[in-house]
Amino acid sequence: MNKKAFVTKEQIEEIVKKYPTPFHIYDEKGIRENARKLKEAFAWNKGFKEFFAVKATPNPYLLKILQEEGCGTDCSSMTELMLSEALGFGKGDIMFSSNVTPAEEFVKARQVEAYINLDDYTHVEFLEEAAGIPDTIFCRYNPGGTFTLGTDIMDNPGDAKYGLTKEQMIDAFIKLQKKGVKKFGIHSFLASNTVSNEYYPALAKILFELAVELKEKTGANIQYINLSGGVGVPYTPDKEPNDILLIGEGVHKVFDEVLVPAGMGDVSIFTELGRFMLAPYGHLVTKAIHEKHIYKEYIGVDACAVNLMRPAMYGAYHHITVLGKEDAPCDHKYDVTGSLCENNDKFAIDRMLPKIDMGDYLAIHDTGAHGFAMGYNYNGKLKSAELLLKEDGSVEMIRRAETPKDYFATFDFSDILKDMKY
Ligand SMILES: *Cc1c(COP(=O)(O)O)cnc(C)c1O
Repeated sequence: MNKKAFVTKEQIEEIVKKYPTPFHIYDEKGIRENARKLKEAFAWNKGFKEFFAVKATPNPYLLKILQEEGCGTDCSSMTELMLSEALGFGKGDIMFSSNVTPAEEFVKARQVEAYINLDDYTHVEFLEEAAGIPDTIFCRYNPGGTFTLGTDIMDNPGDAKYGLTKEQMIDAFIKLQKKGVKKFGIHSFLASNTVSNEYYPALAKILFELAVELKEKTGANIQYINLSGGVGVPYTPDKEPNDILLIGEGVHKVFDEVLVPAGMGDVSIFTELGRFMLAPYGHLVTKAIHEKHIYKEYIGVDACAVNLMRPAMYGAYHHITVLGKEDAPCDHKYDVTGSLCENNDKFAIDRMLPKIDMGDYLAIHDTGAHGFAMGYNYNGKLKSAELLLKEDGSVEMIRRAETPKDYFATFDFSDILKDMKY
């Protein structure tokens, strides 16, 4: 696949007059079209709902767009619940899929009438004590072992900290019914960033069969099956994107094979996609400010791992377009680096790119999810602004850049920095 940036050099030259680099920019049109396609893919299921995983991109403006497209939110912390509440997500709109959950977060989740998704058997009593048991509850399933698609090992649930074993699911459902639960949901997240149309159908089969078994063994009324996140995006240009319509059909087929014959055709399908919803619709835009010729060729840019951590943290590939040089031959080999005093602060290693000149703008692709959000403040570097490229072509700032004042704000309890010159 030919990966094209959704902004041009000319657009960026206009934008930087008002908003200097680096910044993340999001494509509203792409976001809306993709959200509509997901809805279409699952239109066969009456109760279908996507709960966007807030941790991927916790920006209220983007959450509003997704809300307008019919999505809810998936939260796992106090601030994510607060953000959802402030934006008017209400009963039935919020999923709380947390783990190692503090008592006060269960209290908040109940207050905003979120669906609570328990990560452990012991959380039944923990929740009861902290906030009481609601009449609808979810439990997160961990099948253990390895998770394979065909011959590919996709991930290792047996090593993952999440979820209940099958025996615990059965016990929990019996116990929760005694405590007054009327409706149940089940959830599982078995592999991350799958670029395969087979993942959701395979996961659906596991969860649908489990639902039938749980119903038989416990008599529980299972109303919701949450396929969680994990549908991925092609970060590298050699991969083809997932076909969400095919994925929806694949889940539909398993639904008809497993749930319908068991008299469970009224079950609602939920998803908690993060990456799939937004990753391709964000770019980190940065300017080349230094070049360095030692044992390798380096291009230094004005963004760093603080703005996008995935390459430093996972060695993740993020495609780079040198804006204005889309059609130039990729005949130069560069390491593209940020300014942290950390040698892993490299957006690309040995990447073939067109010749980069100082002042060139680089669009780093697929930063719309797990991009800005993973940012940190190492080396005292500040987080960038976030901009929205709207459907009419105009640009709106949807988060301002951090200032030194923000960085030092946590010392405002004392006067030790009272002579700070801003
Ligand atoms: C992170 C997360 C998601 C979203 O994952 P993606 O890979 O972005 O789709 C969904 N549900 C839970 C519980 C998560 O932790």
